[in-house]
Order: sequence, then C-alpha cells, then structure tokens
Amino acid sequence: MTLDDILVEIKQAETIVVMAHESPDGDAIGSVLAMNLALKKMGKKVDVIVKEFPRTFDFLPGAKDVKTTSDVETYDLAISLDCADLKRLVGREYFEKAKKTIVIDHHSTNMMYGDLNFVNPVSPACCEILAGMFEYFDIDIDAEIGSCIVTGIITDTGGFKYASVTAETFEFTAELLRKGVNISDIYQRVLETRRKSNFELLRRAMNRLELLENDKIAFTYINKQDEEDVQAEPGDHEGIVENGRSIEGVKVSVFIREKEENLYKVSMRTGNGSNINVSDICYIFGGGGHPRAAGATVAGTVEQVKEKLIKEIKKVI
Ligand code: AMP
Ligand code: MN
Ligand code: MN
Repeated sequence: MTLDDILVEIKQAETIVVMAHESPDGDAIGSVLAMNLALKKMGKKVDVIVKEFPRTFDFLPGAKDVKTTSDVETYDLAISLDCADLKRLVGREYFEKAKKTIVIDHHSTNMMYGDLNFVNPVSPACCEILAGMFEYFDIDIDAEIGSCIVTGIITDTGGFKYASVTAETFEFTAELLRKGVNISDIYQRVLETRRKSNFELLRRAMNRLELLENDKIAFTYINKQDEEDVQAEPGDHEGIVENGRSIEGVKVSVFIREKEENLYKVSMRTGNGSNINVSDICYIFGGGGHPRAAGATVAGTVEQVKEKLIKEIKKVI
C-alpha cells in the first residue's frame, strides 16, 4: 500500500468523514483539522467528528466546523487519524459503515483496522506524516494547514524535546515559520497555558503523588469527584503524568484517571534517562502507544489498578 493508493481513494470519494481517538490531544485535533482543510482544497465534502473538543484548540482554523454526530449514514470514505485501535476511535459508527476506510497513524501498536493502513511508527506525530503526505499530493500547505500541523508536532514532542524529534521535524517547522505560521503563539497556547481547573487537578494529583519501589515509580490518580469539584473541562487531565517522569531516578511515571466506576484510564511515561518500554507494559492490559508514552484502560478500584500495574512494572525496572 502506497500513498498513491490513498490518493486514488480520496479522489474517488465525494463524501469523506475524518476522526481521531477519544480524549483527543493536540496531535489528534491538529490531524483532523489539517486533513479537513486539505480535503476541502481538493474539493471534497468533509465532516469532522470529534467529541469532547478541548477549548485549548478553539483557535485553530476549522475548529468551529467540527461535529459530534452526523446525518450522513454512509460516507464514501472514512479516515481515522492518530488512533491505534478501533476501540478508541470516536465516530466508529461512521467508520464501520463507510464504503472505504483509511487509517493514518504513528503508533507502533496500530491494529491496522482500515482497508488501507499507513502507519509510520518512527514519525513523532501523526501531523508530521500528514505534512509529508500533503507534500506528496501536491497540496499547498498554507499557514492555516501549517498551524494545525505544528500543533500536533509541538504537543506530541513535548515542545520538540522528545527523542522522537528528527531533523525533518525542524526542517518542516522552519518551512512553516517562513510561510507565516506563528509557532511561538501556538506553543504558548498549547503547552504554556493552563486553565484554572487544569491547575487545580494537577495540584490534587501532585499532593497524592507517591514514589514507590525505591523511588523508581511515580504513581498518582484523579477520580470523577475531583473533576466535578474543579469543574474540569475536556483535556484538563493532559500533562499531569509528565510531572512524575521528571523526578530524578523515576523510571516509570503512572497516572490513572477514573473513566467510570471501577474503570481507570492509565497513562504511563518513561522517566528521563530510563529506557523502559511502557508500550509493552500497557500492551499487557490491552492498551498500547509509544515506547516512552503509552496508555490502557484497567478495571478495579484505585488500589487494585495500582497493584496490577506496579506488579508488571516491577518485572522490568
Ligand atoms: P495518554 O497517556 O492517553 O496521553 O496516551 C499516551 C499515548 O498512548 C498516546 O499516543 C495514545 O494515543 C496512546 N494510547 C493511550 N491509551 C491507549 C490504548 N488504550 N490503546 C492504544 N494506545 C493508547
Ligand atoms: Mn494522540
Ligand atoms: Mn499522536
């Protein structure tokens, strides 16, 4: 399967639906909005389905056109972006009914659930894959598309600091800067600005943070009650897990967030200077992700989930 096959499918389709993973981050939002603009330039009728759109990304072009549901039942083509697993895809009902499906992603644990699957696990962001793809398709990456793309690159690389960053990442970002994308403004908005509710959640999580196994594991959590108390908005839990990983000596940082009663969304990060593959650990629990940033959903109380996770982490630290 090549980029040409993807282009053929896009050209043949009249109606296209674009979607990404649940609890969308900057790469998921940047990817769907960049794809939306690119497809519109190609003259396509496009719907973008996102639920729980974080307010942080309201400034991006096309953010206002995003829908939570659609009247169209059967699209000619459905495109899934930045989502490794059909289980986590928001808008799955449209994906499953579409005449053709394409998956574009950068998770090594991608389940290849599309008719066409374009997965590059060494790409630091799904948005960076799209940049290369649009160039190949001869679509002009203007400042609007560029703003969406750089949002995904900045958020998925922690502001260009992860080892996943390549020379191309900088070259491409430099090109966007020349085209008038305000990199500094986007950086401030997506990484340097906290809503008060996000700060309050972080404060609670930090107060509870425990260092376990000779300070090699950082563990913390938030529950539904916390989110209610601080009037949390979509995306407010983002970034909490990063705080544990920066503590000297921590090999794995774990943050769990109550999804429903007795069901927790797990986030794991590899500590600085450690080379533990957290994707492998999350895979044991039916999740996945990247070697240094991964997730899963695990059943139980906080204590039970913690115990299950620590048991597996202990085996590799
Ligand atoms: P998170 O901790 O939710 O920020 O996720 C870290 C990385 O792992 C992201 O790239 C996610 O897309 C991915 N990820 C999170 N949860 C899962 C899961 N259940 N299955 C597969 N990948 C996941
Ligand atoms: Mn993502
Ligand atoms: Mn991503």
